[in-house]
Amino acid sequence: MHAHRGAPEMKWKSYKDLPPGPIAVESTEEVNKTGGWRTSRPILDTKNCIRCTFCWKFCPEVAISFGEDGLPKVNYVYCKGCGICANECPKGCFKMVLEIEREVKADGC
Ligand code: SF4
Ligand code: SF4
Repeated sequence: MHAHRGAPEMKWKSYKDLPPGPIAVESTEEVNKTGGWRTSRPILDTKNCIRCTFCWKFCPEVAISFGEDGLPKVNYVYCKGCGICANECPKGCFKMVLEIEREVKADGC
């Protein structure tokens, strides 16, 4: 099989070669700061978290990481508010909140 012109050579030959975590690397680039797109924000309450890592695995922006306590946290600079983490979490730890509602509450209006 030939790669398309200009496309990088695939280093994985089958799904068995894929790494256990996200294929994307953690976002650190200026160009990847997708937090500015967000209309909804995932609010995370870890009291029922079972540390299954699903949220981290499914987040397309790799905006979720784990602290030393083993619990997830969201990097809002890169979180674009897609809601996939809320959809995939088996324990309902994420609640999506409209940014506009959050701003109104913070203003006390
Ligand atoms: S809403 Fe959740 S899945 Fe989507 S980018 Fe933000 S942290 Fe990742
Ligand atoms: S998906 Fe939910 S239960 Fe699993 S690690 Fe993330 S927050 Fe915790």
